[in-house]
Amino acid sequence: MESRNWIGGEWVTPRGETMVVCDPSQISEQVGLLHLSETDEMARASDAAHGAARGWAATPLSARGEHLRRLADVLEAHLAELADLGSREVGKPIGEMTGEVARGVQILRYYAGEGMRAVGSVIPHSQPQVLQYTTRVPLGVVGVITPWNFPVAIPLWKIAPALICGNTVVWKPAEGASLTAVRLTELLAAGGLPAGTLNLVIGRGARVGQWLVEEGGVDAVSFTGSAATGMGVASTAARRNIKCQVEMGGKNAAVVLADANLALAVPAIVSGAFRSAGQKCTATSRIIVDDAIFPAFQQALVAAMADVRVGAARDPRTYVGPVASLDQFQKVRGYQARAEGARAIAAAPQDGVDWAAGYYVRPTVVAEVAADDALVQEEIFGPLAVALPARDFDEAVALCNQTVYGLSAAVFTTNLAQGLAFMEQAAVGMVRVNQETAGVEYAAPFGGMKQSSTHSREQGSAALDFYSDTKTCAVYYGP
Ligand code: NAD
Repeated sequence: MESRNWIGGEWVTPRGETMVVCDPSQISEQVGLLHLSETDEMARASDAAHGAARGWAATPLSARGEHLRRLADVLEAHLAELADLGSREVGKPIGEMTGEVARGVQILRYYAGEGMRAVGSVIPHSQPQVLQYTTRVPLGVVGVITPWNFPVAIPLWKIAPALICGNTVVWKPAEGASLTAVRLTELLAAGGLPAGTLNLVIGRGARVGQWLVEEGGVDAVSFTGSAATGMGVASTAARRNIKCQVEMGGKNAAVVLADANLALAVPAIVSGAFRSAGQKCTATSRIIVDDAIFPAFQQALVAAMADVRVGAARDPRTYVGPVASLDQFQKVRGYQARAEGARAIAAAPQDGVDWAAGYYVRPTVVAEVAADDALVQEEIFGPLAVALPARDFDEAVALCNQTVYGLSAAVFTTNLAQGLAFMEQAAVGMVRVNQETAGVEYAAPFGGMKQSSTHSREQGSAALDFYSDTKTCAVYYGP
């Protein structure tokens, strides 16, 4: 498979450099070839989106909803095929990747439903015989910039609400998820969106991504990715005073209190820390455990980790696949080397894995690391978690909040009062009791506090607030 751009309803091969894509599960195997774009190709996509903007905005809301419903049907019909490609390109275990594409179908249907829901409200006016109401209007052209770790769900949870709100889109996916992006766009195109409504440009973030935000004339940008890139995107958008939403990293804590049900807590923590090889912004990266149960927790963790099977992403028995790329592999291995000074308290079995065949990293939990160490403070984005002891509830909450990030957190307890107190005190956008830190409900607001986000929310009806402007209208109907 080779990458192509979808611009103004036509497929065009980018003219820039090429890049070979290898299967992270088996790096000797080639998945495809990327052709990368130059800025003039991005400029054409932006022009196409601007050209289609008026027609799409004038399309009745219910008709836009019908379009999204058709896209959902096409995606559903190709679910297994797209999941297989995603699994080969980013190394996500096939079960998880299939779930992700199914989630994409649900997201499209959810926003299709917005086509029939009420918009705005009627507000009493201070003068007689004046009808005052609000409505939503599209922003225009939205730039969508996405990471590689959810190659289908994240793009769709941006594109679907952007489209239903009447915007046209220029999408720049991550280099490492470009083949999946091309196939997804082929399916969306087959669903019959008008030319120019959705445009896809494959290329390097620092080149065409940055150009899109700085000079592409977009009216808004929705970005998900690392904090370093996101802060740059946000400051460019602020200079241009365009609407901007930036979702970034996390350093999420799962807190295990002394009264926790370990049979519930441990599988949720293993899943939160290691599914997708820890490459989720909501992954459990710090495990804060009350001193009183640390030995019991470790024992249960060691037992659970014995079943964590590392292997090729398309092997249905695999629990943890490879990390997604050579860059990821080198970065995570760097943290692993740093963790050699710590005490490994549990790890996945080493036997039966061909570690050298792909970008495999052994899932491990380490302890005896200082709270200000890079392992505790920086986003690792790999299958390496740190366990920290806490004297009591207050110290556990303090440790949980001792980070620049504020995306997600969980507490495991059988005490309702402690669960509720944690929900109140954890400085994060998403907080849970007796559930893992990862996992997303598409109808609920998603986003972080502190350095994890620009403080807006994605998904659910919160996304409609971002992808539209509110217009306040008043009509005098007196003599
Ligand atoms: P990244 O920041 O390297 O890249 C994200 C996207 O930005 C890519 O499409 C990339 O090409 C593009 N980009 C790079 N430089 C750019 C620039 N100068 N201007 C404009 N665009 C540019 O991130 P990644 O490695 O692809 O993704 C992993 C990160 O994403 C992790 O930090 C993770 O926590 C975060 N993430 C956050 C969420 C969330 O919702 N909070 C969800 C998933 C992933």
